[in-house]
Amino acid sequence: MNKSVCSIVVSVYNEEAVIDQFYSTLTEIVTKLKYTVEILFVNDGSTDNSRQLLDNYAEKDNRVKAIHFSRNFGHEAAMIAGIDNACGDVIICMDADLQNPPQLLESMLNKYTEGNDIVTMVREGRADGGLYKRITSSLFYSVINHLSDTQLKQNASDFFLISKKVADVLRNNYRERTRFLRGFIQIVGFKTATMPYYAPKRAAGESKYSFMKLAHFAFNSLVSFSKAPLKLGIYSGLLFSLLSVALIIFSLVMWIVDRPVSGYTTIVIFLSAFAGILLIVVGIIGYYIGFILDEVKGRPLYIIQDIKHQEDK
Ligand code: UDP
Ligand code: MG
Repeated sequence: MNKSVCSIVVSVYNEEAVIDQFYSTLTEIVTKLKYTVEILFVNDGSTDNSRQLLDNYAEKDNRVKAIHFSRNFGHEAAMIAGIDNACGDVIICMDADLQNPPQLLESMLNKYTEGNDIVTMVREGRADGGLYKRITSSLFYSVINHLSDTQLKQNASDFFLISKKVADVLRNNYRERTRFLRGFIQIVGFKTATMPYYAPKRAAGESKYSFMKLAHFAFNSLVSFSKAPLKLGIYSGLLFSLLSVALIIFSLVMWIVDRPVSGYTTIVIFLSAFAGILLIVVGIIGYYIGFILDEVKGRPLYIIQDIKHQEDK
């Protein structure tokens, strides 16, 4: 019987410092697996030497496919492109910096053979970032879980395994421009296993996520998973209506007892609070409209410039 095919999707953005070490660790491990392996490196518009390094691997190793984007489209787009181009019965997504230990691939695949369609890797501990990363990450999950109907696992990572069935659902039905892939795989259903792991420090190179990039990503994920912020308008509207009724009654009573309140303070406080809330609500609506606009335009999630693979020669 033919061996099943396992596709490994690795997103790469300016990883020249670590990619050699990653490639040699990964190949050493996958050679021992009971699967035919294909390795898809998705080069997310790197501006360093990563492109050349990946092409070299593809040149000498027929398991490697180097997919080059025309520019940087982001980690999520890179994972999607990898999944779209994978021909495996099972697909594993992982980072190129060895923070997702390749040593765990075998136990992940064992969970798949036991009948799981999804294996989510949950970070139990991390050697990088310390308190700051831990606090921002748990803040993000508690906000998203309070605001959305679905519950996402704390610390679920972009290190996961999916079967072909799940990959087909992602390929055909989750083509949103604003994506949160590790969230998607938690809401599609299917038999899911969770495995804890410890994320070591980056083997080399720098994290590609700045504070601003992470904040942007967190906000986008929130919009992708929750419509709750849109309700702020209704709630603050109700609150202001109640306040205004109270204020009207108060002002009338004071007028009747012939001690009319001086208007200035009340008007200023009321107007500025109202304008503040109103503008925030308009801003939130604008943000959601921006996302609708992105969907309507229907531009591609990513653009592939070229693919290097031995069979393509
Ligand atoms: N990455 C990417 N495109 C980007 C940013 C990052 O493909 O625009 C890749 C990066 O090369 C790495 C993975 O996504 O393989 C995770 O990035 P990183 O390690 O910088 O994030 P962190 O682990 O610090 O959250
Ligand atoms: Mg990393």
